[in-house]
Amino acid sequence: MNLPLSKTSLRRQLRQARKSLHGYQRDRKQQRIQRFLAAMPQIRTARRIAAYMPFDGEPDLLPFMRRFERKIWLPMIRPDLHLDFRPAFTLTPNARLPINAHRNRFGILESQRLPILRSAHMDAILIPLVGFDRSGNRLGMGAGFYDRSLTGLRRPRPWLIGIAFDCQETGHLPADPWDVPLDYIVTNTGIIKTNHYSIRKFV
Ligand code: ADP
Ligand code: MG
Repeated sequence: MNLPLSKTSLRRQLRQARKSLHGYQRDRKQQRIQRFLAAMPQIRTARRIAAYMPFDGEPDLLPFMRRFERKIWLPMIRPDLHLDFRPAFTLTPNARLPINAHRNRFGILESQRLPILRSAHMDAILIPLVGFDRSGNRLGMGAGFYDRSLTGLRRPRPWLIGIAFDCQETGHLPADPWDVPLDYIVTNTGIIKTNHYSIRKFV
């Protein structure tokens, strides 16, 4: 019998795949992701783009973020485990601890700039993925921060754009009732408009 893999075992396997990309191969894939992303109308027209500081082998988008710096917002984890967003600190190359930044409990840099806005006020949210499928199902690190923060968004709502390497795709991901699906996934091989996107637009 071919039992579907649990989220936990998929997470382990796909985090490993993401972390095992190094050097020139990783750089080239990250450059391609950023080139696809920068060409998207949803990104070009956005006034506020939520991005992320890379962690655990997530695609590093810092050059893209520097290019669009005035539009970039960064997540902060609230005590109730929801995410809010603050304007990005200055993304200087090589700075250990930029002004207006501090490290959260995972060691990820968070901005301390004001104002603080909710996800509903972003025009596009770039979400780092552990895994994904073409229906827009998303596997994250397992804390549910994005699911918690993106549930119940009303129109016009932000574009939800997953960011991953193509090796993180799976045929079908198990989804729980609280999982919020993605509109697009950008990888090093292209821009995927998910099945969820079609459902949202045309039904
Ligand atoms: P991830 O999305 O990071 O892959 P999961 O989808 O497995 O992780 O979610 C992890 C946990 O987050 C769940 O067990 C659930 O308890 C919690 N969670 C997710 N969404 C919500 C929500 N809307 N409200 C409260 N808890 C949530
Ligand atoms: Mg989830």
